Amino acid sequence: MDFPKQYDVIVIGGGHAGTEAALAAARTGSATLLLTHNIDTIGVMSCNPAIGGIGKSHLVKEIDALGGGMARATDKAGIQWRTLNSRKGPAVRATRAQADRALFRAATRHIVEHQPNLEIFAQGAADLIMQGDAVVGAITETGIRIRAKAIVLTAGTFLNGKIHVGTENYAGGRMGDMPSISLADRLRELPIRTGRLKTGTPARVDARSVDFSKMVEQPGDTPLPVMSYMGSVEDHPRQVSCYITNTTEQTHDIIRNNIHRSAMYSGNIEGTGPRYCPSIEDKITRFADKSSHQIFVEPEGLTTYELYPNGISTSLPFDVQVDFIRTMAGFENAHLTRPGYAIEYDFYNPQDLKHSLESKYVENLFFAGQVNGTTGYEEAGAQGLLAGLNAARKANDQEIWYPRRDEAYIGVLVDDLITMGTKEPYRMFTSRAEYRLLLREDNADTRLTEKGRELGLIDDDRWRAFCEKQEGIAREQERLRTSYVQPNTAAARALEAKLPQPLAREFSLKDLLKRPELKYADINAAMPAEQSVAVDVQEQVEISAKYDGYIQRQQEEIETLRRHENMRLPETLDIDAIGGLSNEVKQKLKEVRPETLAQASRISGVTPAAVSMLMIHIKKHN
Ligand code: FAD
Repeated sequence: MDFPKQYDVIVIGGGHAGTEAALAAARTGSATLLLTHNIDTIGVMSCNPAIGGIGKSHLVKEIDALGGGMARATDKAGIQWRTLNSRKGPAVRATRAQADRALFRAATRHIVEHQPNLEIFAQGAADLIMQGDAVVGAITETGIRIRAKAIVLTAGTFLNGKIHVGTENYAGGRMGDMPSISLADRLRELPIRTGRLKTGTPARVDARSVDFSKMVEQPGDTPLPVMSYMGSVEDHPRQVSCYITNTTEQTHDIIRNNIHRSAMYSGNIEGTGPRYCPSIEDKITRFADKSSHQIFVEPEGLTTYELYPNGISTSLPFDVQVDFIRTMAGFENAHLTRPGYAIEYDFYNPQDLKHSLESKYVENLFFAGQVNGTTGYEEAGAQGLLAGLNAARKANDQEIWYPRRDEAYIGVLVDDLITMGTKEPYRMFTSRAEYRLLLREDNADTRLTEKGRELGLIDDDRWRAFCEKQEGIAREQERLRTSYVQPNTAAARALEAKLPQPLAREFSLKDLLKRPELKYADINAAMPAEQSVAVDVQEQVEISAKYDGYIQRQQEEIETLRRHENMRLPETLDIDAIGGLSNEVKQKLKEVRPETLAQASRISGVTPAAVSMLMIHIKKHN
């Protein structure tokens, strides 16, 4: 039968990519359907109940700056908050929240259910409706045909999902959920390259069986961070501590002695696992000289006794899991509430996608999240937002949009995926971005919200708050630029207490703020602003003063690269003579022989840093 309504966009899957895709499409005003197995699993966290961390919170704040839901849900669910790298520079500073799994799910569902233009239908998608090379709808597992102008596929680990616990395995989307087989089979018939990846999760432990006195307590940070630009500390629920324990020589012996029974090491799994989130079997094999690994013991929520022991994901049999977990301090009598397991699933080569995340070969079909070979809620949400937005734009005959690498981590993520592809689950790191100082988590709104408003993603409340903040920054910067401290005054004496020498002449507040010894609070105490200045405004003013020189240099670099995109590469160019290029980049340049810098920059694996070196070399030698 035909569904009673047609849509602009159907999003298949209500995970982290799917909810952001559906929210973004609907925010632009497009009639959107979220087609997902089960309404009750919208926003479920398949693995670790935590959001953010280094590189990842940058993505969450960018999603938020474009009006998405993940940061707001995190603010309602975060039960232990940390500011990571707080002593390092602002570029690598990151926010991480341990989340109450149930609160996160409830908050996500609330956001989805309150989004205008968005409807939900609980059914699995079993097939796609095709018209030539274009997709024009989806067919559910009970045969309901739903038509749409564009489809976003965000089926996570469910496509041909296979769960492994030791030598046992069975078909599943994640533990407790059915896999998606017929849709996966259909996708294998389309001209899209398919591969297999795997990921794993640890056993969970009952807190009542744990002796926390043998572990190190890790309370959250004060002041409490906030994830959303629209959020506040008042949104957070009650705060609790995490704990730290360690694996021991005995733990490692048990794992080593049983490694042949691990699904991964017995040859039962063909997919590649996440390098940066390895299983405990992997850690012990790869880092054989280490006698101990730190394990973070994290609460799953405020209303449950379940704990998530972070760092021991495994595909060993259950009896071995019980034995090795009980060798750790505090876990001697641990009761396991769920076994750890590994899951293998189909993913699709993201090199077959355009920057909009639409397939190059199947028109109107967009892909986002784990299906593109990434791992992590944040990476999934970021792609979801972009795919949902572009699906809506395609449905409405509008031009696609994506951020450049120098505008957003979302830009870095998508560019990395579609130009380089991935052979193992891809996760975000700050080191993947060339222009880290520009792409900070604290300025995601400044970078993206205006564009988001233009794209129809930003509602009036957020836009008003954004404009007020920007006006506040401009006002305060102007005050600092035009206010002077004279020597031998009370203000000078207050500041000199922190300076190595007295002020020999007058200085603007802006110049004083550039000095490493002085913070914004010192300047404002010595010469206060007439009106009170919001904390987020103070932060922006301080960072831009302190890092002014570096930020300008990065901006100039970007401009120079852009200006020279049409620079021609001489036919006689000796690629081996270019200093600083990796062998991989040299190889690719020799193979492709690009004619211009712009062409070189589009070769998969040729990074912007390599393009910059190429440009410097050509300028020097021609
Ligand atoms: P998911 O969150 O998996 O959501 C997929 C959604 O699609 C589900 O709602 C599902 O019901 C729905 N769906 C699937 N097929 C259909 C269909 N045919 N029709 C309708 N709906 C459908 N990430 C990490 O960062 N670190 C880790 O260590 C880690 N370990 C993991 C371990 C396990 C066992 C699993 C399962 C996941 C793990 N992850 C980990 C990955 C993390 O869960 C994902 O990166 C994230 O959930 C991906 O989001 P997504 O939206 O792409 O997919």
